[in-house]
Amino acid sequence: MPIKNAALTAGVRTVRGEPTITATGLEGGPIYALGPELRSGHGLEIDLQPDLDADALAARLVDRRRPKDSVSTWLRKGGLSPVDVALLRDTTGNRLPTEATAVADLAKAVPIPVEGLAPIDRAISTAGGVALDAIDDTGMLLDRPGTWVAGEMVAWDAPTGGYLIQACLSTGHRAGVAAARWAAEHP
Ligand SMILES: Cc1cc2nc3c(=O)[nH]c(=O)nc-3n(C[C@H](O)[C@H](O)[C@H](O)COP(=O)(O)OP(=O)(O)OC[C@H]3O[C@@H](n4cnc5c(N)ncnc54)[C@H](O)[C@@H]3O)c2cc1C
Repeated sequence: MPIKNAALTAGVRTVRGEPTITATGLEGGPIYALGPELRSGHGLEIDLQPDLDADALAARLVDRRRPKDSVSTWLRKGGLSPVDVALLRDTTGNRLPTEATAVADLAKAVPIPVEGLAPIDRAISTAGGVALDAIDDTGMLLDRPGTWVAGEMVAWDAPTGGYLIQACLSTGHRAGVAAARWAAEHP
């Protein structure tokens, strides 16, 4: 289930987007974007209402509260989706605060414990690889002239969204052109 229109913060970085709740955790664009921060051990906070500050959200919750409504109905009327409410329930061990200001403060910074990253067979891209200072500007290994590396073999940490394939193709092309030239010069 996607968490619509959220802002996610890890360390000093905040990204907007739609993380998806899966059976094993969170994934999706904003999670990938925060990969370096999450990898280095920062916790994650989700702002479920990034277009309102906590005071405005609390005021809206107060305004939309009706005595007969359940807490879930009240929060949904206050602009939180069923997925948002489920996340708040999960975070609080099913003890949702009943004060509008407490709900607003929580919804603005839902703490998500980070237990780890998914294994490499689920990875879209990987950090690590051959260090940039171990290759020349065509991707040839300085310690092993005549051998090139490209794409994910190189240690770069690119943003997702088309840049990975572009960088793999570009570094592959660059390596291929250089290798052809090198082969002609070293018959
Ligand atoms: C699910 C998923 C979605 C993605 N979506 C996007 C996207 O939307 N946009 C984007 O830009 N990027 C996306 N990526 C990332 C992108 O696909 C990779 O960064 C890119 O394909 C890596 O290219 P590469 O040539 O470096 O490595 P690979 O494509 O992994 O190529 C390595 C090749 O080497 C072969 N190989 C391995 N070992 C040996 C061996 N010993 N001998 C011979 N061959 C070997 C492998 O079989 C493989 O064919 C996605 C990745 C995944 C997994």
